[in-house]
Amino acid sequence: MLCPYCGHPDSRVVDTRATAESIRRRRECQACRKRFTTYEQISEALLIVKRDSRREPFDRNKLLQGVRIACAKRPIAMADIERVVGQIEEYLFSLGRAEVKSDVIGQMVLEKLKELDPLAYIRFAIVYMELADVEALQRELVRLMAEHR
Ligand SMILES: [Zn+2]
Repeated sequence: MLCPYCGHPDSRVVDTRATAESIRRRRECQACRKRFTTYEQISEALLIVKRDSRREPFDRNKLLQGVRIACAKRPIAMADIERVVGQIEEYLFSLGRAEVKSDVIGQMVLEKLKELDPLAYIRFAIVYMELADVEALQRELVRLMAEHR
């Protein structure tokens, strides 16, 4: 996606909106910082394959919401959360595939949160990895603490 102002090849997605027939993205050029809009046909939309094999269209806001909940009341700037979600979204669409497993997204979020904030990481892991039992949670905490030593 070349910047229409300066021709730079790298842009960052700052907003995504899906309508019935297309997906509208606001992008910011990484060179001149000007913003522009692109439209994609809905047929190019990415489907997320859930664990029970159901498919649903990728929903940026849903992903953002999940990360925000994990980061609630932590010293993490909204800009960092936006950046994480933007990076994941860019990556998913760069794969050029019609479908991506939800586990792939979950693992990406975990990787990013691990760098950002250990507690947000644990929170997301509890929900996402279903670390419901105390032993599994304890193992994960011990492992995390060893890594941060
Ligand atoms: Zn530009």
